[in-house]
Amino acid sequence: MTCYDCTLQDRTDTAAIGVCARCGLAACRDHARVLVAQVSQGNGMGPSTGPVAARRFVCTACHTAERAY
Ligand SMILES: [Zn+2]
Ligand SMILES: [Zn+2]
Repeated sequence: MTCYDCTLQDRTDTAAIGVCARCGLAACRDHARVLVAQVSQGNGMGPSTGPVAARRFVCTACHTAERAY
């Protein structure tokens, strides 16, 4: 799969390393952010957060948008 942002820049030699969790587009290492996400689960006593952090893969466009407000 080719990174979407790279194709916009006429770069087709980069391989996408993942798919953005928000927009679903493929992104390469340069055009994506791997964030730490907490996994929360409702167990009847309010949401609890697990001890192990999960990962969340988003492209730079969505990462910027999420931090814009
Ligand atoms: Zn890229
Ligand atoms: Zn995205």
